[in-house]
Amino acid sequence: MNTRNIIAALVLGLGGSFNAGAYVLDGSSWPEGKTTFHIDINLKGAATSPSGISWNDAFRESAEKWNAQSNFVFTVDTTDPSHPCAGVGSYPQDGFRNGANFHPKVCNQVDGTEDDYGSKTLAVTVSYVYTSKPEEKVEADIFFNDAESWDIYGGAARSQFDFKRVALHELGHVLGLGHEESNPAIMQPTVGDTYTLQADDIAGAQSLYGGSGGPTDPPIRMSIEEPFNGDVKAGISNFRGWVVSMNPLVSLTLYRDGILFDTLDHNGKRVDVGNKYPDYPGSENSGFSFTTNFGILSAGQHEYRLVARDNQGNTLEKTVTFDVQRFDDAWVGDDSLISLDNAAVSIAGSREIRIDGMSHNGKEYRVILNWKKATQGFDVKEITKTQ
Ligand SMILES: [Zn+2]
Repeated sequence: MNTRNIIAALVLGLGGSFNAGAYVLDGSSWPEGKTTFHIDINLKGAATSPSGISWNDAFRESAEKWNAQSNFVFTVDTTDPSHPCAGVGSYPQDGFRNGANFHPKVCNQVDGTEDDYGSKTLAVTVSYVYTSKPEEKVEADIFFNDAESWDIYGGAARSQFDFKRVALHELGHVLGLGHEESNPAIMQPTVGDTYTLQADDIAGAQSLYGGSGGPTDPPIRMSIEEPFNGDVKAGISNFRGWVVSMNPLVSLTLYRDGILFDTLDHNGKRVDVGNKYPDYPGSENSGFSFTTNFGILSAGQHEYRLVARDNQGNTLEKTVTFDVQRFDDAWVGDDSLISLDNAAVSIAGSREIRIDGMSHNGKEYRVILNWKKATQGFDVKEITKTQ
């Protein structure tokens, strides 16, 4: 490229204006709200990561994440790659084309040099603007430090760096975002457990390019499926549901009637949840459940409150209230003490069965069963001692 027309090699994140309390802009953006990367990314000759995913695919996925949350359009072309060093040293000029690749140095088209990465620097985005129009980007190149150890994965950070979240971060610089230090953000200056766009990142992109490609995924989704709100429980039954989170959960705590009851594991197989929320890591193993004797609770209304907390400080609470119906004795081990010999059974409604005169451990009860959609069966609706 013709470097005479270019004055600033903007290594984003080092300069730029600060917008207090929110996303940070670097002062330049793409006037047409779109740009194209021409890539053929490889790390020391390998086109795929140790986990078997191609670097190109991961880069494209990261670009599409930004596309989905703003009106900006990244296009990723792999048919005619452009080296991010084009125009420097022996790399041929290629016009104002954006490139991205692993490379041992950071190329600077303004002075034609290849510079070292800063200390502990994983990647650098260099944006170019004309001196006459410093607010308009004309090219951006991304350099990934090939001296580091890389892979591609979601969730908590491991010893190898996750290329996809670093690409997501660098593409944020390409858009015109600087580093965000005060809110959870992929634009935080250091790489960590955050690997998806956060509300602050999206707000930043939308402030530059407008719009919204769709509703933002909340950091945590959770459902208590049993008991459901207004459910009636009697005897031994289940507490169950699922929780998914963009960031690692640090706790899932259950309170019963306001008192700490338990902390729950949440790794049960849930293929249905995985299919519904594929963007949440590990969503196919997001179930929680345990079996409990509701009969040990007093008859009447009770409450479960479940609190999920992630490592970014996000929390989500769900509360269900349910009614306990019970016999006086919560547990009868001897079946001979249970009898319908003197009972009368009648149909109480189109989906209700009434049992009068059931004998339970020497006492007499009326029991009403009704059809429960959630369990697809007849379940206890009411237990009343009659004698
Ligand atoms: Zn950065």
